[in-house]
Amino acid sequence: MAIDRKPLIAGNWKMNLNHLQAIAFVQKLAWNLADAKHDFSAVDVAVFPPFTDLRSVQTLLAADKLPLTLGAQDISRHDSGAFTGDISGAFLSQLDCTFVLVGHSERRTIHAETDEIVAAKTAAALRNNLVPIICVGETADDLQKNGLSATPVAQLTAALADVSNAADFVVAYEPVWAIGSGVAAKPSDAGTVATLLRGVVADRLGNQVAAETRVLYGGSVKATNIAAFMGEPDIDGALVGGASLDINEFSSIVRYQKHLGV
Ligand code: PEP
Repeated sequence: MAIDRKPLIAGNWKMNLNHLQAIAFVQKLAWNLADAKHDFSAVDVAVFPPFTDLRSVQTLLAADKLPLTLGAQDISRHDSGAFTGDISGAFLSQLDCTFVLVGHSERRTIHAETDEIVAAKTAAALRNNLVPIICVGETADDLQKNGLSATPVAQLTAALADVSNAADFVVAYEPVWAIGSGVAAKPSDAGTVATLLRGVVADRLGNQVAAETRVLYGGSVKATNIAAFMGEPDIDGALVGGASLDINEFSSIVRYQKHLGV
């Protein structure tokens, strides 16, 4: 029996919007989606503000009962202790974060996060009742040398090293060359990699977990290309960077089903 995976559109704000700007932004986004009669039971919407905004956004979502979900952009692999500047998953859980990004390419490249660190962060998220969004993807160099799928498959295999089959996680396929470049992957290529990544989950954790796991595409997603990605059977949503900072654009991405006439 086919399993219906609820699509997820996730907005990674990166290091943009302070806590005051974040409050105004989330309020406007929620109004925009409410005005457009977005059906939150059909498509989940999550925002990933900087750490310093989380408490303000949490309070707003709770006070106004806004149906947006909160996520953090990173997590420490440790739960507490002498790790100056790091943020514990236990703290994120207490701020009602549902999701946390792990292994985003900007963490892997700028902060030299290895596959081993990403696996430890995945485990830290799960141990603290957070849903890790495990980001994987090839650089332009990888693409030229090894093709589309070798790096993302290897990165996901490594990230799942300590994951049990009761775990709830999301996979985000984000070709590094597509992030912030304005050049998205071909939807059919992204769909092929998504299928291979689901295969990695199946090999490691079984067919049932693989069928239930959401696989997102990320990399220069816009209102004009989201429908093509969502038309791929193994793509269940998008991780959106730049376009998530534009309320009308992000809202239009969220409402991609309207572009499909659903
Ligand atoms: C990202 O940072 O995860 C991302 C996909 O960025 P952009 O949408 O700007 O390419």
